[in-house]
Amino acid sequence: MAPNDGKRLDTLLVREGLQRSQFRETSEALYLNSGFVFDDAAQAEAAFKGENDNYVYSRYANPTVAVYEQRLAALEGAEMCRGTATGMAAVFSALACQLRAGDRVVASRALFGSCHFIVSEILPRWGIETMFVDGTDLQAWEAALARPAKAVFLETPSNPMLDLVDLASVAEMGHAAGARVVVDNVFATPLYQRPFDFGADIVVYSATKHIDGQGRCLGGAVLADKAFMEEHFIPFYRHTGPSMSPFNAWVMLKGLETLPIRVAHQSAATLAVARFLEGHPAIALVRYPGLESHPQHALACRQMAGFSTLVSFEVPGGKEGAFKVMDALQTIDISNNLGDAKSLICHPATTTHSRLTAEERAKLGITDGVIRLSVGLEHADDLIADLGRALG
Ligand SMILES: *Cc1c(COP(=O)(O)O)cnc(C)c1O
Repeated sequence: MAPNDGKRLDTLLVREGLQRSQFRETSEALYLNSGFVFDDAAQAEAAFKGENDNYVYSRYANPTVAVYEQRLAALEGAEMCRGTATGMAAVFSALACQLRAGDRVVASRALFGSCHFIVSEILPRWGIETMFVDGTDLQAWEAALARPAKAVFLETPSNPMLDLVDLASVAEMGHAAGARVVVDNVFATPLYQRPFDFGADIVVYSATKHIDGQGRCLGGAVLADKAFMEEHFIPFYRHTGPSMSPFNAWVMLKGLETLPIRVAHQSAATLAVARFLEGHPAIALVRYPGLESHPQHALACRQMAGFSTLVSFEVPGGKEGAFKVMDALQTIDISNNLGDAKSLICHPATTTHSRLTAEERAKLGITDGVIRLSVGLEHADDLIADLGRALG
């Protein structure tokens, strides 16, 4: 789709969008500035009319952020991309820019906590009707989309139980209902799932996760076709200011260079850890789309090119049992972040999903014994040894 001359992803992630300054620096230049100057007043006038491609103000666009945007657009096969300050800025602006009072949104129930808050609390305040469905249930989607809707919002694989949504089927139903389909693709990473190929209209990322992947900066991205971006997203973005810091974009560019190597290592290690957990007598349940035991393994093989760097599992003894295992770990850190070089573990029921009622958690399969592990760049054998010791 994107004009990348048939180059492979690894090459694009190092080279795409690079624009060297007069100093011929090797790495991408960091333009850490808020404003830009004009040769004369007429040039400024033309810039404000959009008649030249001068940069105006870093809330609108910035040369370092532009390299990040061009590189992500090439990776995703999208016509346009805009960098955002955080993943939540991406999600919120992608939805808010196109919705108004009286519109209807259908979302998958299994969403990242803050995404759930936007759909369940913020949008309804503005007269937007929202409803949640079980994302794994195509009949539920069909029933919900029997009435017109403006947007469909979903995450696959979901946080934390790694449930999948059938992208092609839901996109088709969403379009028939008149909706744009917005996909939060963080858990799959841009390398392992290409939502546009299955009919998605808008793809959003938290770049804080795998794209940085080294625990340094917050960031996000919104990708879509030119028509949507120009009509809906860009005016909203320019005037409400969810823009990305050039410094963060520069860090993310360094992250993109090594993304394929990191995600491949992390996914292979996650599969090894998942297999170890599945074979462990103390573990009741392991959820990883790459395991044959995952109820949607066949769908995972159809719509994903790799699986995920996250695995969730259930230990006996509820909350107390989960805390005991987590506290006994020596290498793996307790943290709610994910996609990082460091392996991080969290207890969703008391942290990321503590805002949900016990009933809502039960619907999502998040019991008090569930633990979510984000596998980092350590050697899989050391992680397995750490988990084995903690479980024993
Ligand atoms: C982390 C995350 C977000 C939010 O991203 P921030 O960069 O933390 O704002 C949104 N969706 C998913 C699936 C995430 O994992």
